[in-house]
Amino acid sequence: MPINENKYNELLNYFLSKKVQLVAVSKTKPNEDIQALYDLGQRDFGENYVQELVDKFETLPKEIKWHFIGHLQRNKVKYIASFVHLIHGVDSYKLLEEINKQAKKNNKIIHCLLQIHIAQEETKFGLDENELMEIANKISANEFSNVLIDGLMGMASFTDDLEKVRTEFRFLKKLFDNLNQHSIPNSPFTILSMGMSSDYKIAIDEGSNMVRIGSLLFGERNYSN
Ligand SMILES: *Cc1c(COP(=O)(O)O)cnc(C)c1O
Repeated sequence: MPINENKYNELLNYFLSKKVQLVAVSKTKPNEDIQALYDLGQRDFGENYVQELVDKFETLPKEIKWHFIGHLQRNKVKYIASFVHLIHGVDSYKLLEEINKQAKKNNKIIHCLLQIHIAQEETKFGLDENELMEIANKISANEFSNVLIDGLMGMASFTDDLEKVRTEFRFLKKLFDNLNQHSIPNSPFTILSMGMSSDYKIAIDEGSNMVRIGSLLFGERNYSN
């Protein structure tokens, strides 16, 4: 599908006016589509699958900032550590340990977001409130040398009940603000990644400063090809 330039500019202006950063979610989309958006000036792209991300990294412009937004398995961190810009889905201490190890090997710092489970669906990954506090304490005590916790990420329930979605985002913002106060040492903690094509307006209302938008930019995904 060709990129809709007007739609992109309209969204971008809206996000700029709200001081929100756009991550264009390009999973399952071909390189031509990514290149087209790149040519309009987009630099931040999000992918969910490690192999797909590696292939795209190798063939597309090196100026792209690649966000890993999917569920990351520990044994796959090594494939993306050398180039990934931000890992959104950190949901365990063990995963963070592995990211730190691979970052060290690559002599770099890897920026991460902790993923919080805010939706009702069982299928969505992430930490609950207690696990978040636990991991924050552990990180504070151990002070990883090669990872930085830039903030939190979450996905709301997939539902038409917009009040429910709003409540979930509000809850995540509250956790974000609370943790901000008892900060993890040396971590910037400035990014709150929430909002997708169907709920970005609510997410921004509720305090998001980074949205992950796929189908609104690239069209619906077709997983069968
Ligand atoms: C696919 C995906 C998105 C984008 O979804 P759209 O509804 O196409 O905007 C955002 N975040 C995550 C974690 C995703 O997996």
